[in-house]
Amino acid sequence: MSHVTPPYPCPLLINGEWLQPKIPGTPVYNPSTGDVIAECPAGGADEVNAAVEAAHAAFPAWRDTPPIERARVFFRYRQLIEQNFDLLCQTVSREHGKTLVEARGSIFRGLENVEYACGIPTLLFGDSLRNIARGVDCETINLPLGVCVGITPFNFPAMVPLWMFPTAIACGNTFVLKPSEKVPLSAVLLGQLLEQAGLPKGVFNLVHGGRPAVDALLTHPKVKAVSFVGSTPIAKYIYETGIKHGKRVQANGGAKNYIVIMPDADVDKAVENLATAAFGCAGERCMAGSTALTVGAAADRLLPSLIAAAKAVKVGPTDRPAQPDMGPVITAQHRDRIMSLLASGEKEGAKIIADGRSVKVPDAPRGFYVGATVVDGVQNTMTLAREEVFGPVLNVMRMDDLDAAIEQANQSAFGNGAAIFTSNGRAAREFTMRVKAGMVGVNVGVPATMAMFPFTGWDDSFYGDLHIQGKESIQFYTQQKVVSSRWFGGEVGDVWKK
Ligand code: NAD
Repeated sequence: MSHVTPPYPCPLLINGEWLQPKIPGTPVYNPSTGDVIAECPAGGADEVNAAVEAAHAAFPAWRDTPPIERARVFFRYRQLIEQNFDLLCQTVSREHGKTLVEARGSIFRGLENVEYACGIPTLLFGDSLRNIARGVDCETINLPLGVCVGITPFNFPAMVPLWMFPTAIACGNTFVLKPSEKVPLSAVLLGQLLEQAGLPKGVFNLVHGGRPAVDALLTHPKVKAVSFVGSTPIAKYIYETGIKHGKRVQANGGAKNYIVIMPDADVDKAVENLATAAFGCAGERCMAGSTALTVGAAADRLLPSLIAAAKAVKVGPTDRPAQPDMGPVITAQHRDRIMSLLASGEKEGAKIIADGRSVKVPDAPRGFYVGATVVDGVQNTMTLAREEVFGPVLNVMRMDDLDAAIEQANQSAFGNGAAIFTSNGRAAREFTMRVKAGMVGVNVGVPATMAMFPFTGWDDSFYGDLHIQGKESIQFYTQQKVVSSRWFGGEVGDVWKK
């Protein structure tokens, strides 16, 4: 793809065939320049039906493939991802706008899920107990479900799909991926590499589109399980519609993550971490630290360096060799939404103390840029305090003590991540025990979990029972059978007597 010039092809993958259907599509932008670089076909029920049928037909042979052979596909896949690492980074960066450093980080996180899937023979072990009653033995067997589906957001074009299909497929399922129509090109590349790794036809399929494709997947009778990552209203819709149609569903939603800064925190480290948590990936992360809760004197110690850090963030295009610190946001509409949330905050009395709204990028004047922004004096009643901004904006709320900070964090409808910066173990312990969030950091600004741990959003950040990643994902993608067996003709020990 690196040697191809735009528009880049955006095919579907159905039963091992790459198809370029003549259906109208939606534009895919390079957010750095504002140029259209591809058209994402807006598939619907026909394309989805063909993909699900292909996955259904491929299931029996793949289910019966020994786990060690399934693992070998992912060992090869791992190697192919490493060999194509630069191309993957460029593709992610070009369609999303992440810097190459951020793209690298995200692909490493995704790769860790492939490495996790390589351990599938031991991850699928069941339990067994001899002689649960005289002459009766019992064992659990973990079996795949059938056709599983992944529906993914724009903000991690390769990592989030990699959270899903390696584990699902390694467990013996077949898969249909529907990536975000804003960033479909990384998913195409991931599919091409899977093909090169030797995955049999039909085990992995790729469809494109928006709501019609999603609805066709959610209601298809041959789909057994749906993994979703995206915004909260859509996550709720996916969960409710999916379970109504008899699917197993895990649906990750949006977030609003709080970072508490205690007066005894290491200021330099806290500022460095806050800036990364708030402005990394232009704030388009479900684990972005979007609100600093400064306790007591922490604000006065912190704010001068925080303002300086925000002002120092160099914004620019990410699609050329000289890399900025921060790239654009995904679309012009998204940039305008961030601007209007900032305007509403100002109108409601907040003070913008580092203002990225007027950032100029002369090399790429049509790109979708917002500079790093810090807003002080944010109150809980403001829209800016309650809604997920999903941009490079850090709110500051001043708290009297740790109790007030925990109370503020816990009133949120979301429950994805939270962090505390302190040098006091007692305060850290209190915070980790009482804060209402599924992933908690102590002097760690973005406590996003790695492949071997579940991605444990709570409340409006997650709908379902079993989370993505780690052991919970193995449970999600398998169903247990418990076999009790008895062989007539003697009690335990009889064979030895003969
Ligand atoms: P989105 O909800 O708009 O889209 C996600 C997916 O849903 C896409 O594939 C899209 O095509 C589909 N979709 C969109 N509207 C739909 C509709 N009306 N009906 C059916 N399907 C629809 O999310 P996004 O803007 O692509 O991604 C950003 C959001 O994802 C943020 O809220 C972010 O916090 C969240 N996110 C959450 C996590 C997590 O693990 N909790 C991780 C990454 C992103």
